Amino acid sequence: MDINKMGVIGAGQMGTGIAQVCALAGIEVALNDISEARINAGLATIAGNLARQVERKQIEPSARDAASNRITPALDFDAFSDSDLVIEAASENEEVKRKIFSKLCPSLKPTAILATNTSSISITRLASVTDRPEKFIGIHFMNPVPRMQLVELIRGIVTENTTFDTAKTLIARLGKTFTVSEDFPAFIVNRILLPMINEAVYTLYEGVGSVESIDTAMRLGANHPMGPLQLADFIGLDTVLSVMQVLHDGLADPKYRPCPLLVKYVEAGWLGRKTQRGFYDYRSGTPIPTR
Ligand code: NAD
Repeated sequence: MDINKMGVIGAGQMGTGIAQVCALAGIEVALNDISEARINAGLATIAGNLARQVERKQIEPSARDAASNRITPALDFDAFSDSDLVIEAASENEEVKRKIFSKLCPSLKPTAILATNTSSISITRLASVTDRPEKFIGIHFMNPVPRMQLVELIRGIVTENTTFDTAKTLIARLGKTFTVSEDFPAFIVNRILLPMINEAVYTLYEGVGSVESIDTAMRLGANHPMGPLQLADFIGLDTVLSVMQVLHDGLADPKYRPCPLLVKYVEAGWLGRKTQRGFYDYRSGTPIPTR
């Protein structure tokens, strides 16, 4: 099936990125979040990002205008009644996602495909709360969506081949590359990456090094483009913690135990860049290590 119209649920960093790349590819996008204010903040983020792409000469001003015009606010799920695909990119919380999918289904046309951008949660379990598990798939974009080449595709146990083929066609249209992961906690990228980040937080917690020495060590010593604590702030510490909890619960192995210091930062509301404080304090414009 060709995707001409789609819905995106969640106007945070991932939902806005997905809306932006899909609108640039010619797809009409309806963007939803929990309030009009959040949707408007998401639309403003997209406008800023498209403007930056024009400044960098990555797109023409006409492409920016056409993409902006293709994205409309969706104050409720009725706005998705003619969507060919709805991608959920709300917070990484299974309860939140289950509620969204069960409430969403009555508003959709029968042929609509459903996708989740979850970083870790079982596709089969999320599909089971919908009226169309065969039309449900994990489409896991990477952050930042406009810049990252990879998308992980994850089938649930009942996902049909036609659903998988539609997702593959969409990824090709966006100019991205996919890999296929089986439906196990955190799939491939986060199964490998997030325990490394969690270990970096343990390294900080145990006093092996400061924020700065851990990040410098991994940037210059392992040639990573970003230090693991800087990357954790970029992903969002709430998302990092949720993924570790899904790994810990789903695989029942103590090696995935979330670091207590990570838990403390999340409890403090220090979620990284999105709240201006995490392992670094971003409020002055120059990131300052918080430990
Ligand atoms: P975010 O915190 O930036 O945004 C989440 C958005 O979801 C918020 O705007 C929030 O208001 C909204 N939301 C929460 N409950 C909602 C509801 N019931 N209905 C509609 N909107 C709701 O988070 P994010 O980084 O954009 O992550 C979103 C999803 O993408 C998560 O599942 C996450 O695991 C996944 N993901 C994140 C990254 C990353 O690096 N941050 C990478 C890949 C995938």
